[in-house]
Amino acid sequence: MTVFILVILNLFQDLVFKQMRSSKNSLSLYIHYPFCKSKCPYCDFNSHVREAIDHKSFLRAYETELQFFSQKLRDKKITTIFFGGGTPSLMPIFLVEGILKKISDLWQVDENCEITLEANPTSFEATKFKDLRLACINRLSIGIQALNDNDLKFLGREHLAKEAIQTIEIAAKIFDNFSFDLIYGRPNQSLKSWSDELKRAINFGTKHLSLYQLTIEKGTRFFSEFQQKKFIMPDENLLAEFYEMTNEITVGAGFEAYEISNYAKKNFQCRHNLAYWQGDDYLGIGAGAHSRVYFDGEKNRYAITMLHEPNSWLKKVEESGAGIQKMEIISKKELFEELIITGLRLREGIVCNVEFNRQKLKSLSDQGLIIIEKNRLKIPDNFRLLTNAIIAKVCNAAL
Ligand code: SF4
Repeated sequence: MTVFILVILNLFQDLVFKQMRSSKNSLSLYIHYPFCKSKCPYCDFNSHVREAIDHKSFLRAYETELQFFSQKLRDKKITTIFFGGGTPSLMPIFLVEGILKKISDLWQVDENCEITLEANPTSFEATKFKDLRLACINRLSIGIQALNDNDLKFLGREHLAKEAIQTIEIAAKIFDNFSFDLIYGRPNQSLKSWSDELKRAINFGTKHLSLYQLTIEKGTRFFSEFQQKKFIMPDENLLAEFYEMTNEITVGAGFEAYEISNYAKKNFQCRHNLAYWQGDDYLGIGAGAHSRVYFDGEKNRYAITMLHEPNSWLKKVEESGAGIQKMEIISKKELFEELIITGLRLREGIVCNVEFNRQKLKSLSDQGLIIIEKNRLKIPDNFRLLTNAIIAKVCNAAL
């Protein structure tokens, strides 16, 4: 009997993985541009400041790495492309065009492919928006972060509030689909000033907002300044009030809080990021980029990390075709955990094709911390603030 149950369980798991693989004919591409004008004090992204950049060599390297992976991913259709960084709006147009041309030479690209580029709101970068649109970028994500000069200065940003507003206005004329980021929970920020700032932001007519709480990450300038008590962060209770107010204002203005930090009007969610959160395949190209992919005909899913330092990445691509630092098979357990960690950030949760410890899961559901609806698992709205803690408990319940 036990053997019979194990056979059925294995068949079920194989079926789940087969379903996961068969839905993986689409592929999202992430292109990392690792340079910025200066380093923001809160930033722990793979971004570097360089006096001179040999963009022609970088174009050749991006093309080479795309070619390298296309040989293992021929069957895929590209559904989203995302230029992230760093500051991709600093890329010369020929670099953006060259990368997009190479992608369309190598793969079938979906006719509704979402092609996003992250931009910083300086007047220099705004002058490029028309050319970026002509180069087929159809979604812009702008790093505004704050709408007042004092906080922009504190955050170490290169732009002023006036420039940010002008950039949003220019973007709105050129792109139907644009988003911008704001950071809240800043030192000395009051609920009233955040409420005014957020309402002002919404009035610019964007259909997507990424609203992040300021976090102090190890290795950043803010981390040492915070340790030295150069500034004080809002306490947990105040941060919870910020979060709840953010949801109330955005939802009241017709946005859906579709992910823990992302808000969109109907049909304007970021499809590229949804692919990450829903556990779909993505290929990261460029220094420090990450991937999660099933190669053609492979049963296993791979996790790939590229070398972080841009020139080391460039050199390795020139020598061997790809700047891979690490490539390994992801175990079934890791695969499930990743799906839970990213999927439960989504308001609609994840399709729960995962084998769980039913008792542990039932106890979480009895406490109201999770909802199980048919085959979907999600966190109720009133517990979204505890997302990270609940995710840890659900991971613990996965078999
Ligand atoms: S512009 Fe963005 S990527 Fe560059 S340093 Fe600032 S936060 Fe980091």
